[in-house]
Amino acid sequence: MRRWGSGARSPHPTDLIAEARATGLTVEVDGDRLVIRGPKEHGELARAILAAKARVLAVLAEEAEAAVAWRVAVMAPQIPTTGTIPFLVARSCQTGPADCLSCGDPMEAGQRYVCRPCAEAAQGVVAADEAARATRRTKGDQL
Ligand SMILES: [Zn+2]
Repeated sequence: MRRWGSGARSPHPTDLIAEARATGLTVEVDGDRLVIRGPKEHGELARAILAAKARVLAVLAEEAEAAVAWRVAVMAPQIPTTGTIPFLVARSCQTGPADCLSCGDPMEAGQRYVCRPCAEAAQGVVAADEAARATRRTKGDQL
């Protein structure tokens, strides 16, 4: 196993996160805190991640942004020009009882319908559609 606490060069945050996930650690953001959970035998890796907190937070923020962005790209075309907006789906998937109904990824505690990125993407897509409709209505009023 790689030693994370020693060495002259600090490891890249992406490598730290990948190694954490591979060893069963979860690395999550809670406000401005970095929360690492998992087996105690990976304490050295957890400490290395905490030592690189700012860079790890930046990578996780990029990941979260990308997770919403691809869902927005897939969901936006599902909005009809008129009529009822259907349940927006990120991808076709088989879902278990704790999986997101939109993308099939496992949901975090407290989520019972869709995962956070899917919820964020759907809200963004619907809000953008509302704004576009409002703009069209305003333009229509001016004619
Ligand atoms: Zn999802």
